[in-house]
Amino acid sequence: MPKNHYETLGVEKNATKDEIKKAFHKMAHKYHPDKNNGDDKKFKEVNEAHQVLSDDKKRSNYDQFGSSDGPMGGGYGGQSGGFGGFDFSGGQGFDMGDLGDIFGDMFSGGQGRSSRNSRRGRDIQTQIDLSFEESIFGVSRKVSIPKQSTCDICKGTGGKVGTKMNTCKTCNGNGQIREVRNSILGSFSTTKTCSTCLGNGSVPSEKCSTCRGEGVYKKQKELELNIPAGINNGESLRMTGAGEDIQGGPSGDLYIKVNVKSHNIYKRDGLNLTMDLPIKLTDALLGMSYNLKTLEGNTIEVKIPEGINHNELLRVRGKGVPSSRGRGDIILKIIVKMPSKLSRKSKEMVEKLKEEGL
Ligand SMILES: [Zn+2]
Ligand SMILES: [Zn+2]
Repeated sequence: MPKNHYETLGVEKNATKDEIKKAFHKMAHKYHPDKNNGDDKKFKEVNEAHQVLSDDKKRSNYDQFGSSDGPMGGGYGGQSGGFGGFDFSGGQGFDMGDLGDIFGDMFSGGQGRSSRNSRRGRDIQTQIDLSFEESIFGVSRKVSIPKQSTCDICKGTGGKVGTKMNTCKTCNGNGQIREVRNSILGSFSTTKTCSTCLGNGSVPSEKCSTCRGEGVYKKQKELELNIPAGINNGESLRMTGAGEDIQGGPSGDLYIKVNVKSHNIYKRDGLNLTMDLPIKLTDALLGMSYNLKTLEGNTIEVKIPEGINHNELLRVRGKGVPSSRGRGDIILKIIVKMPSKLSRKSKEMVEKLKEEGL
């Protein structure tokens, strides 16, 4: 969201237009990216602040609503992201006038963005069950989902194949309708996509019979879901554009909720896999070697050192959950099982241990 434009320019809230202009010149020179100690980010902020505060209407909206768009919505906050990658280099002479034009164009280019995407396909959700191993290593799955999909007979136009296209009467073929709205802040002129022709400017004289002119209809769609390695139980993935299709607008998104079955040995703890390893008292005292089966199905020999304690942890590096930061570990928690009953002979031997002070 926009930060305080007054603070950015270093002026008071009641600054005059002249003061704002002077402050902008000073700051723009200071932060210009062509300068040795210029600051690209600050330079953009300064320009944004100037754009708003130098325009009476934008400034009053900003003062009142915290957004230069007024109560209709905050387009500016989102637009600042659009500055990325803008190249200021190469300009030898620094001309304020040109700069103003550049930014003016950029802002007007963003108008109508909010109304353009008003028509959008529905987002849908599906669930899939994964084995523990699939969740750790990733998997690709084909699923069939019923959803509104672009009609493959008319290719989404809604018109009968080969039918004549007539100019839309609602918008006179413009595809857009201009609307003037009056509000307390004056009249706003907004452009809306024509709802009759959905922005095409023309309508078919005969409708497609498969989709009844809708351009879409509900059918089973086969999709390939690529589940990345290391996904957690209950996590959701978003597949942009894989939701329901709609005529004259972008498709919705598909959300895939992942259910991971539990493993009979391993549990997941972040990037690590943990497991309890019960061992006999004598193995704890004398040490042993244990054949650990990794999730890949390989066997690794793990040395349990003599005198290991109950609840002590042993780490097998790099055999846990893969991730971009590298692979986690397997952590073995030693559970020393006490014999529940001792034979007479055992008892005698333990007595001997006791005599030795153990
Ligand atoms: Zn159709
Ligand atoms: Zn129209």
